Amino acid sequence: MTAHQAFAQNPVFIPGPTNMPEALRKACDVPTLDHRSPAFARMLAPALAGVKRVMGMESGEVFLLPATGTGGWEAAIANTLSPGDRVLAARYGVFSARWIDLCQRFGLEVEVLDTPWGEGLPLERIEAALRADRTGRIKTVLATHNETATGVRSDIAGLRRAMDRAGHEALMMVDGVSSIASMPFDFSGWGVDIAVTGSQKGFMLPPGLAILGLSDRALAAMENARLPRTYFDLKDMRRSMAAGGYPYTPPVGLIAGLAASVAMLEDEGLAAVHARHYRLAEGVRRAVAGWGLSTCAAGPALASDTVTAVLAPEGCDANAFVARAAGTYGMAFGTGLGQLAGKAFRIGHLGMLSDPLMLAGLATAEMVMADLGWPVRLGSGVVAAQDFYRGALPLAAAA
Ligand SMILES: *Cc1c(COP(=O)(O)O)cnc(C)c1O
Repeated sequence: MTAHQAFAQNPVFIPGPTNMPEALRKACDVPTLDHRSPAFARMLAPALAGVKRVMGMESGEVFLLPATGTGGWEAAIANTLSPGDRVLAARYGVFSARWIDLCQRFGLEVEVLDTPWGEGLPLERIEAALRADRTGRIKTVLATHNETATGVRSDIAGLRRAMDRAGHEALMMVDGVSSIASMPFDFSGWGVDIAVTGSQKGFMLPPGLAILGLSDRALAAMENARLPRTYFDLKDMRRSMAAGGYPYTPPVGLIAGLAASVAMLEDEGLAAVHARHYRLAEGVRRAVAGWGLSTCAAGPALASDTVTAVLAPEGCDANAFVARAAGTYGMAFGTGLGQLAGKAFRIGHLGMLSDPLMLAGLATAEMVMADLGWPVRLGSGVVAAQDFYRGALPLAAAA
């Protein structure tokens, strides 16, 4: 790093882990605590109740596991399904693909609906697949609400309608790792059975917690599910939590941090948090258009409010962009993943970010592109974002 950057810490513009507010870093700093004491139960209760509100859960239960989002997927699958069960899932990016791979490694039969990257859940094909399943072999439908590899938001309310139209009883499991606590999420309204996220994304905490919401139907499915699980057994967890504790040593600091995170989000107001993420994202989208570039998301309704995948101009290497931003300016952007490797870079815009911080990221991105000789004029994106941010307040979040 050059001398003038030595003492500055730039915000990251990766879609997780996200920037941590100082107050949340401090909230995680908890002295040794007996996790079998009432003091721990007093710490756990507000974290569980807070997550329920953030996810929009009117009923059901929240579980906090020492893991990350990936561990949350595993817990969702292992606790509700049995060997030979069939799963229906669309594959439209790296994260939806990894959840499918996890199911396959559990020996489940996955009906995969391959979908072009840049698009979201193929609702008509899902409905058709459910209608064709006359004997009810499909036990669950997987959905990645916000595909972090492509910057695409899928329509979970629409998925519920499609499942209802097909009259199918399958559970609905939603990966909300890069959407929950940043974008609107309506667990009960959408009829979600399991929602999964991790502490290091919208909750702005260090990595280390898998956060799950389970509906009453998902809790009932746990009773007869026969896939093997031990550490992630939510029946054990439920029994211990009923007594205010854990079946093993809990990550006490992260749980304290989670309660503080919810308080911070609710202090801003969840609707305001969602509106801020829409505003940040729309500024980024205008900047991308100002650069004369396009996003991976195939249309405006699909555009994520937490991450934008920007397609590099023809013949330009997106990996060089990410490397130069880090090496020369000390700023982290996301690389293209999977089939987008080298072709796209990603701008993460979730968590602790504001319009001015976003402008710093966009201005730096322009410097990097100019340095690399990409056909992008300095200021072309920044001015588009500035114009939008100046005129944008207040704005409602997109649904
Ligand atoms: C980050 C992310 C994951 C993986 O989460 P980890 O916490 O890294 O295990 C899964 N799904 C989506 C959509 C993500 O953005």
